[in-house]
Amino acid sequence: MTLAIPHARAVSDAVPPVLGAGLAVPLVDGRSVPYANLDHAASAPCLRAVRDAVDELLPWYASVHRGAGLASQVSTRVYEHARTVVREFVGARRTDAVVFTRNTTDALNLLARALPKGTSVVVFDTDHHAALLPWRGRLVRRISTVAALDAALRSCPTGPRLVVVTGASNVTGELWPVSEVVSVARGHGARVVLDAAQLAPHRPVDIRALDVDYVVLSGHKLYAPFGVGALVGRADWLRAAAPYLAGGGATSQVHDDLSVTWAVGVERHEAGTPNVVGAHALAVACATIADWGWDAIIAHERALLARLRAGLAGVPGVRQLSLFGAERSADRVAVVSFAVDGQDPGLLAAALSAEHGIGVRDGAFCAHVATRRLLATAGAAGTRALRASIGLGTTEEHVDRLVAALHTLVADGP
Ligand code: PLP
Repeated sequence: MTLAIPHARAVSDAVPPVLGAGLAVPLVDGRSVPYANLDHAASAPCLRAVRDAVDELLPWYASVHRGAGLASQVSTRVYEHARTVVREFVGARRTDAVVFTRNTTDALNLLARALPKGTSVVVFDTDHHAALLPWRGRLVRRISTVAALDAALRSCPTGPRLVVVTGASNVTGELWPVSEVVSVARGHGARVVLDAAQLAPHRPVDIRALDVDYVVLSGHKLYAPFGVGALVGRADWLRAAAPYLAGGGATSQVHDDLSVTWAVGVERHEAGTPNVVGAHALAVACATIADWGWDAIIAHERALLARLRAGLAGVPGVRQLSLFGAERSADRVAVVSFAVDGQDPGLLAAALSAEHGIGVRDGAFCAHVATRRLLATAGAAGTRALRASIGLGTTEEHVDRLVAALHTLVADGP
C-alpha cells in the first residue's frame, strides 16, 4: 500500500500548519480520500515548524553536557534552551525545576517516586490512569467531585499531602475547576499537581496564575513527536529524592567503593543520554503555539467543537458523555466521547476508518472508571465508547464527514 504523504499545509490561515493535512488514505472500496484525523487527543500531528526545526538540528545532534566538540556544544545549548522555553510556556516560577521525561505518565511516576515518606495523595477517580495509578502503595484517598476534596484532605494523617487534578478530561474535554481545587488544597497545606496533558495543547497553562505546585505534559499531545514530556514544579522534593534512574549524568561523583554523590540539580532525575531532539521539538511546539497566540487556536477549536456536538446531537441513538452535566461544561476542549445505541464502538470505529477515511478512537480511553460511570449515567450499554477529538489539523469538512458517516452507518444498522 502506498500512501501519498503531502507537505504540510494549513487547514486554515488562522492556525499553524501541521503535517498530514490532506494525507490520502485508501478505502475498502478502492477509492482514496483525504484522511480526517479526529484523534488529536491521543496524539496530535506534528507541527510543520517542529519538523523543520528537528531537520535543522539532526546534523548537529550529539551527547550533551560532557562533550567539548562543537556538535556537543550546540546540542547542549539547544537542550538547555528547550528547558527555558518549556519553563516560560507554563509560566513557571524562577525556582521551579524543569525535568524532561518521556511523557506525562513518566513525569507523574517521577513525582510519585519523589514524594516524601508519609505523603498522602488525593486523586479524582474520573482521571486518566496516568494520574490515578502512580501513587499505588501510598496512602491514597479517591474522590469523584471537588465537593468531596475538603473531607478527603481532612481525613489524611498529619504529613505532606498532594492533590492530583487533571486540567481537561481526555474523555469529555471538560475543564476541571483547578482554582477551586487549589484553594481547598491550600487550606490543608496540600500541594497540587496539574495533569496538563490534554489542557496544554488547547489552553494556556500558567503555574503562577493557577498557583499549582507541579505541571506535567506530553510532547506528542502538543504537536511534537513522541518520547518527550516534562515535569515542572517545586524543586525541593525532587532535590531530596533518590534519582529516578541510577546511571550516568545523574551523578556528581562515583567513589571507589561505588558509593555515589548524586547531582543536586535536575540532572539527578535525567540519568542516561537525554532526548535532545525531543526536548527541542517540544520547545519549538511550545514556542510556535505561544507565538501564534491562543485566541486564534481557541476560536478555531471552539467553532469546530460546536459544529461537532450539534452534528452528533442530530444522529439517531448518539449519547454524548459528560462529567459535569450542563452546569459546568460551558467551556471544554474539543474532545467528545459518545455511544451509539445498538452499535458496537469498535466496529463503528473500524467502519469509519475503512469506509470513510476517518480516524477516531474507541474503548475506555485509559480512564476505565470514568468511562464506565459516564456510560451508565448516559443510559448507554457496555463499557466502551467512541471518541472524536479536534485540534489544529481539523477542518469543518472532517467534522461534517464524521457526522454524515455516522448517519449512514446508523441507518445501515449494526
Ligand atoms: N493524562 C491525560 C489527561 C491524558 O489524556 C493522557 C494521555 O492520553 C495522559 C495523561 C498520559 O499521557 P502519555 O501517554 O503521553 O504519558
